[in-house]
Amino acid sequence: MIEVENLTLRFGGLVAVNDLSLVVRPRTIHALIGPNGAGKSTTFNCISRLYRPTSGRIRVLGRDVSGLRPQDLAPLGVARTFQNLELFGGLSVLENVLIGAHVHCGGGLRERLAARPPAVIGHVEHLLERVGLAEFRHAQASALDFGRQKMLELARALAIRPRILLLDEPAAGLRNREIGALDRLLNELVERDGLTVLLVEHVMQLVMAISHRVTVMNFGARIAEGTPAEVRRDPLVVEAYLGQ
Ligand code: ADP
Ligand code: MG
Repeated sequence: MIEVENLTLRFGGLVAVNDLSLVVRPRTIHALIGPNGAGKSTTFNCISRLYRPTSGRIRVLGRDVSGLRPQDLAPLGVARTFQNLELFGGLSVLENVLIGAHVHCGGGLRERLAARPPAVIGHVEHLLERVGLAEFRHAQASALDFGRQKMLELARALAIRPRILLLDEPAAGLRNREIGALDRLLNELVERDGLTVLLVEHVMQLVMAISHRVTVMNFGARIAEGTPAEVRRDPLVVEAYLGQ
């Protein structure tokens, strides 16, 4: 679903991503972990075309993304969330998800909000149920607490009916109960709905429980890859985390 080949991105003298290769297989949850500053979000930003790599290749759904703009990815079926929330704070919860739902229709923000066919509203309401936000549908997004804002970002990403979901630290700042709900939802999205998830996450309890495969980065480079059990006992991984 995603093939990253020898990806490098320099910011001036800093090598944020250093010759990274990575293959994400269909219907798996693939975690990308590593200490702060390891290059995880930068890798996401290269895949979603917000950053232009210095070198290397990225293919998504078999297609080279180098000619694509960031806004071309959603119609292909690739959705993402942001580590630092990027919601429309002044709009309602429902409206935030509607914006995602209308990605296949084109048009600007105003048109997307105005058009509310029952089928689209039904889909949005269903997603709000799934992420536990149904009762907040008319609340202003900025009035939600942090955990609920994160779930709203996830609902908006799901509204585009993606095949690939890129999640940047979805569990950060969530309470234990919310992490449990996220765990169940991600499993269901992969097992039942057939999605593929690339997950950047620091909450190890979640990563180790739900990932099929884990890639570990440090200083921009891949230092380990394997099943959760394999990477957990890898001395390089232990050292990278203890050294933090
Ligand atoms: P992670 O998500 O693993 O914590 P990042 O990918 O955000 O790490 O950052 C990797 C490195 O690249 C860090 O040293 C960070 O300061 C640097 N970096 C990220 N984005 C930029 C940018 N836009 N300009 C300059 N440096 C950046
Ligand atoms: Mg990050």
